[in-house]
Amino acid sequence: MANNMKYFIGNWKMFGVSKSISILSKINKFVKSDKKFNKKYRTVITPPNTLIESYAKFFLNQKISIGAQNCYHKDNYGANTGSVSALMIKNVGAQYMIVGHSDNRTEGDTDAMLKSKVENSLNNKLKVILCVGENKIDKKKNRTFKVLKKQIVNVLEKKFNYKDVIIAYEPIWSIGTGKIPEPKDLLKTTIFIKKILKNIFKTSNSPAVLYGGSVDGTNISQFKRINEIDGFLIGGASKSDKKFIDIIKNYYK
Ligand code: PEP
Repeated sequence: MANNMKYFIGNWKMFGVSKSISILSKINKFVKSDKKFNKKYRTVITPPNTLIESYAKFFLNQKISIGAQNCYHKDNYGANTGSVSALMIKNVGAQYMIVGHSDNRTEGDTDAMLKSKVENSLNNKLKVILCVGENKIDKKKNRTFKVLKKQIVNVLEKKFNYKDVIIAYEPIWSIGTGKIPEPKDLLKTTIFIKKILKNIFKTSNSPAVLYGGSVDGTNISQFKRINEIDGFLIGGASKSDKKFIDIIKNYYK
């Protein structure tokens, strides 16, 4: 059973309007009441940018932190129609920034752009959640480790503060499909990722490595035995307070 700090991070993607705050209120209420375990985990929700400011104000100093799902690769104020920078996101109260989600990689994010997003986010005192993961073909052709190594070493640098970096390992074939990795494979992959990170940052402690992909209140029991996993990035199930709370409850059951 787990005994170090774990993250439960919900990625809402393009879900949510003002009144969806009631979902977060219920999660916050649960975490507050969960005296036995709440010191052992952190809950973060990344709503769409339109909701960050109001949600961050509402949950200031509460049990939920607010993050963003992406930012533009150039920082500050640029002539980039429709874009939002890390500085602007920090300014409205976010504390975390997801970078490199496969949705955004598919739409054109390159490693160079991701490096810049990571750097800009860290410079603006945001904690970065860098998503990495192989696709179905990579997995079939046994290229998972090669792909992950490239995605990590091309983006992270020793000069970044490793304490503000979190990796979310999200196999693309698992996102939204109901398929999850075999626990023994996930353990091996997590250890492999941590080895690369320790090597980049020249530290004996690795940054946190999360798992993401079809996590729910039932399959969470398969992950809790893998103590190397430092938490979860949760998509679909984070849009329901009940499903999100069930994941936490069943993890600590
Ligand atoms: C995601 O989109 O990052 C994700 C993990 O989604 P899901 O939990 O729905 O697979």
